[in-house]
Amino acid sequence: MIPYGRQSINDADIAAVAEVLRGDWLTTGPFVSRFESAVAQLAGVGACVSVTSGTAALHCAYRAIGIGPGDEVITPPMTFVATQATAQLLGAEIVFADVEPGNGLIDPVRVAEKVTTRTKAIVAVDYAGQPADMDSLRAIANDCGAYLVEDAAHSIGAISRGRPVGSLADLTTFSFFPTKNLTTAEGGAVVGADLELVERAREFHNHGLIRDPSRQDWPDEGPWHQEVAEFGLNYRLPDVLAALGLSQLERLEEFRVKRQAIVDAYSAAFSGVPGLDVLTLTPDSVPFWHIYPLRVHAEERLRIFTELRRVGVGVQVNYLPAHLHPSFRRLGFGWGDFPVAEEFYRREISLPLFADLPKDDVERVIDAVLTAALVSS
Ligand SMILES: *Cc1c(COP(=O)(O)O)cnc(C)c1O
Repeated sequence: MIPYGRQSINDADIAAVAEVLRGDWLTTGPFVSRFESAVAQLAGVGACVSVTSGTAALHCAYRAIGIGPGDEVITPPMTFVATQATAQLLGAEIVFADVEPGNGLIDPVRVAEKVTTRTKAIVAVDYAGQPADMDSLRAIANDCGAYLVEDAAHSIGAISRGRPVGSLADLTTFSFFPTKNLTTAEGGAVVGADLELVERAREFHNHGLIRDPSRQDWPDEGPWHQEVAEFGLNYRLPDVLAALGLSQLERLEEFRVKRQAIVDAYSAAFSGVPGLDVLTLTPDSVPFWHIYPLRVHAEERLRIFTELRRVGVGVQVNYLPAHLHPSFRRLGFGWGDFPVAEEFYRREISLPLFADLPKDDVERVIDAVLTAALVSS
């Protein structure tokens, strides 16, 4: 079976991890700070806090901007449900805005319709690795005084209108899960230009502990003293994993180029084939392709998906629209609420895509898709 996604680990990655294992720190240590600096630099911003997952990153970001009961958070349905779950767990009300039909990205026109006086944040998801229309979303967020958050779990390393992903929103979150653009096994990060906001995320990821005496109630207790003013969690990325991330970052551009070449081969083979739709490209951006979503006839999707798995092509579907999970259906959402995302989902199949996918396998995938799809037309 050709896997649908997998990590790319080389000897330098293994050596980097082994070096930390032989050293003094397994968790918070020098590699964490070095990794955070490197991620901030890549994102074109001043601050980064690394965390244990992309989900933790979202939780910290939402907490940093103060999301809580009474707040509304506008999100796209075409995402992994962690985008919503972490805001819901903080007591916010999730508001969905439908996506654009060609690329699955949140539609600014739909977002503008959903803004109220309670809108606390607008969250974009860079579906598949293309930056959302952050300029339009920024204008809407500024008008209504909401924060702009970018769930960039798919898109670290992408560029929009000359600016790196990470510098487009108030806070941006990354995931370093093995299938993502780079990996720390499990891991994530929050980045932003506003040092105070990122510092709030940092505090939440470390129990809410305050070391700065000027902010303590009892600063004269002694050198051991730390205080918790607002409860946090333990979301600290271990040094072992930060070392892996730092080593992976050196090959990020290589990963981008290799993924792009596979996407180019897929798109050349499938563009113009009746019944197949490739993603439309967002203007003026350099994507970093995390997944390759192909759309087939909705009534053929299950058959084609099953056939591809049968012949050894590891396909996936990204994603069941978030509002259709039982946790949201219980709140009154259902089929028909967000027709563009639902139609996208009904037609979607994600093809294998990862940096080390051999050329022969790319050809095998293309042949298998064309064979399976042509039977139907
Ligand atoms: C992967 C992913 C997440 C969660 O990241 P984890 O590291 O798996 O917790 C959040 N949002 C999106 C869009 C994702 O693809």
